[in-house]
Amino acid sequence: MIDQLLAILPQVVTVLTLVTAVFVTSLWLGMVLWTFRDIRARTRDIVVQILATFMVAVLTLPGLIVYFLIRPRETLAEAYEHALEQEALLQAIEEPEVCPGCGAKVRDEFIYCPYCHTHLRKKCLECESVLALDWNICPFCGASQGSTVVAPVIDRQFETAPEPEASVQA
Ligand SMILES: [Zn+2]
Ligand SMILES: [Zn+2]
Repeated sequence: MIDQLLAILPQVVTVLTLVTAVFVTSLWLGMVLWTFRDIRARTRDIVVQILATFMVAVLTLPGLIVYFLIRPRETLAEAYEHALEQEALLQAIEEPEVCPGCGAKVRDEFIYCPYCHTHLRKKCLECESVLALDWNICPFCGASQGSTVVAPVIDRQFETAPEPEASVQA
């Protein structure tokens, strides 16, 4: 009985070694492939993609741990989403200006509201740049502005019945 077991022992050892080798190789291949796909989702830089995959291929598990520590935090898809969110936020900040007299949308270079004649902005006395009413110096040429108007002047005539008017200043 013992003799028989001893006789097949080398075969058992060979099979066990083979199974272990196949298992370890599969694990290694899986790690390398996973790293390659993960880094490709995080950067378009081919050098970085090759280096990261190579590091895991050579260093195996320690390499994978190092990769986890230094890989780009966001995937490209996440970065794109964040960029879109930020753009939406910026657009919310740069929302079109609204006339305080009638609520119509007005461009920020309008001096008067074309609908209700509210005085929205003034021109620089020197260089004719469009300025906010409460600015007392021109940011473009530095000329001081003598005007005492500090807030939009709503044309009372039109306050109750705003009438769309076609004439828009150039
Ligand atoms: Zn208006
Ligand atoms: Zn000016």
